[in-house]
Parts: sequence; C-alpha cells; structure tokens
Amino acid sequence: MHCPFCNANETKVVDSRLVAEGQQVRRRRECINCNERFTTYEAAELLMPRLIKADGSRQPFDDEKLRAGIHRALEKRPVSIEEFEASISRIKHRLRATGERELPSRQVGEEVMAELRKLDEVAYVRFASVYRSFQDINEFKAEIDRLSEEHESEG
Ligand SMILES: [Zn+2]
Repeated sequence: MHCPFCNANETKVVDSRLVAEGQQVRRRRECINCNERFTTYEAAELLMPRLIKADGSRQPFDDEKLRAGIHRALEKRPVSIEEFEASISRIKHRLRATGERELPSRQVGEEVMAELRKLDEVAYVRFASVYRSFQDINEFKAEIDRLSEEHESEG
C-alpha cells in the first residue's frame, strides 16, 4: 500500500484490530520512508442483492447511497463512527442473510429505520420523515414532541 503522504511503496502495519463487530479490520500503518502514520479499513466484499424499485425497475445495491442517507439522519447527533459502521454492517448482513438475489428497495428503508430507532431516536424520526413522509404534519410534530419529552425526563 502506497504512503498517502510521500507515495513511497514501503509501509508497515504497526497495529491491527477488528472493528464494526468483526466485520472490518482496522490497520495502523507507518511509512518506512517518511514515518507518517495512517489508517486503513478492510472489509470483505460480498455480493449484495439487487434492489427492485417501486416502478419495478432494478438497480444495483448502492453502498454510498445507504451511507449518505444514514449519515444525513445522524448529522450532529451523539453517535460515534464505530456505531455508525456497526449499523451499516448489520443492515447489509441482514439484507444478504435473506438469501434473495433481488429485494424490494423499501426493505432497505425498513432495515435502516430499525437500526436508527435503536441508535438515535432523533435520527430515526429524521429518516422516517423523509423516507415514509409522515401522513400529516401533526403526526410528525407529535412524534418529535414525544421524543423530546422522553429525553428531558431522562435528564
Ligand atoms: Zn511516506
């Protein structure tokens, strides 16, 4: 692996450990030439099911799109990158575990909502409001109020 600082091709691994519930390996590397350190993440690339859109068209699974959607919902929320990565891993694992080669795209949305509900309720409401477009705005507001009351009472 080339050094991102000086582009030398000799780097050594100084630390290696499992992250995201064992789905990734995090490696600290050090450049033999300039001694700068950097981190790499390694994950197995497994085939994801294709997604069937509401109009019946098929699309390849888009990892970036999944990440961007969750990331947007989690903006400024107290959720670590570790928890974020673990959630992504669990969502992908469950989608693969269906054993199906094609899945309705809404199933991805449902999995994301299930994860966000556990991770951070505000992020969950944000995502759900966009994804499911709450049937009326009062229902949405009631949900927000309910959550903020719960958080206040938690202290
Ligand atoms: Zn270097």
